[in-house]
Amino acid sequence: MQAQLNLIDGEACAAASGRTLEVLDPSDGQVFASLPRSDARDVDAAVAAARRAFHGPWGRATATERGRVLSRLAALILEHHEDLARLECRDTGKPIQQARADITACARYFEYYGGAADKLHGEQIPYAAGSTVIALRVPHGVTGHIIPWNYPAQIFGRSVGGALAAGNACVVKPAEDACLTPLRIAALALQAGLPAGALNIVCGLGIEAGAALAAHPDLNHISFTGSAATGTAVAQAAAVNHLPVTLELGGKSPQLLFADADLDQALPVVVNAIVQNAGQTCAAGSRVLIERSIHAEVMERLAARFAALRTGPGAQGLDCGPLINARQLGRVRAMVDAGLADGLKVAARATLEADAPAGGFYFPPLLLDQVPPAHAIAQQELFGPVLAAFTFDGEDEAVALANGTPYGLTAAVWTRDGGRQLRCAHGIEAGQVFVNNYGAGGGIELPFGGMKHSGYGREKAFEGLRGFTTLKTIAISHG
Ligand code: NAD
Repeated sequence: MQAQLNLIDGEACAAASGRTLEVLDPSDGQVFASLPRSDARDVDAAVAAARRAFHGPWGRATATERGRVLSRLAALILEHHEDLARLECRDTGKPIQQARADITACARYFEYYGGAADKLHGEQIPYAAGSTVIALRVPHGVTGHIIPWNYPAQIFGRSVGGALAAGNACVVKPAEDACLTPLRIAALALQAGLPAGALNIVCGLGIEAGAALAAHPDLNHISFTGSAATGTAVAQAAAVNHLPVTLELGGKSPQLLFADADLDQALPVVVNAIVQNAGQTCAAGSRVLIERSIHAEVMERLAARFAALRTGPGAQGLDCGPLINARQLGRVRAMVDAGLADGLKVAARATLEADAPAGGFYFPPLLLDQVPPAHAIAQQELFGPVLAAFTFDGEDEAVALANGTPYGLTAAVWTRDGGRQLRCAHGIEAGQVFVNNYGAGGGIELPFGGMKHSGYGREKAFEGLRGFTTLKTIAISHG
């Protein structure tokens, strides 16, 4: 595959430095493309182009016109669905069926926000006699979007879709490990009629291009999705310029299994919630909390499912693909090895397919039982297919255990008792609580975001669109 280029002001261009980064296929560890290694100069050019577009044709477009462009983009993504899915599969290593689902979701974001663009409006506020007050809902201006490698197409769609629909011009810094689908979709956006400069993509390292974007003085908003540590750095950099920031960070999401749960319904979902994308999902269900009376049965059934999971190259479409890179594999291995050295009990371990390439970054799914709630594996995000099981007695202990980590992104409660469903849902500190179902992050239509160290602000849904606007109040005294 040829060298990839940035997209700035509607033009494909190399990094100002002329430097590049290698792109590896996580399924075999081989280099198959290169990316521009951009720095502050490229970010400056992209922000300036976005500013011109915001004051130019894109800023002048009506909401209906903006919506039409996004709807055309959604249709183009669907037209190129299989090519995009294969690209996402190769770039991230995720199983092809997951990549296909991600591209469908990406198209759906543009479809949703395309349709929503001209339904977003401000309000009129009752005020003093002889006056009219209106609160206009206006775009921030130039928005920066820093996205991670785990769901590049989906997160690109959810963040940029909302920002463009609201009338902002965007500068995107995708993760150095996964830039290919954002670049390809941005090219399709031009084809859909998006004016040059309204959407710019700058590839590069987080500490170079990412840090330059977060600290840029001519931005008006930053949407960051990634780890809690980087979120802190981005929010600190943005604070210098008093920029509003949305932080979509990590999680340690619990699945609460009560004795009256429908286990036939719950267990496949519990397994999928941690194995999906090899556990590299912010909303991965990485903890299963089991009521004591069903603990033995649940562990036996989960162990059988884990042992049967197949791990191999993304293109083979098995249950689990590789992790994104050698660093992530090393991190997961080190955390698990430390846990095993502490005496954590392995309940089941899946195996790697015999023909999986030796250079791939594979970590077959692992099920651990009776993990002490204070242990690092119970508290920290591993970002790998490792499920930690716990036992509880009664509702209060279940909710306390669920809330006993620094995170608060998503959770699921499995019980047939209607009162308990609602009591637990109210008691759990998380941005989304699912009852008798679980979708990592849920659908496009559901507001998504964290509590506690999982971040603040919401993306997805109509709420996400509002987040890409601010209010301007106009007070008129007319007698
Ligand atoms: P990361 O924080 O390392 O990187 C995210 C992005 O930030 C990348 O584009 C990276 O290049 C950039 N970056 C790194 N250092 C930077 C800096 N100093 N300044 C500015 N930008 C910088 O995260 P990751 O490893 O790519 O992704 C995994 C993390 O993302 C996990 O913690 C996961 O839970 C989280 N995540 C959250 C959500 C959500 O919606 N809540 C969704 C997906 C992933």
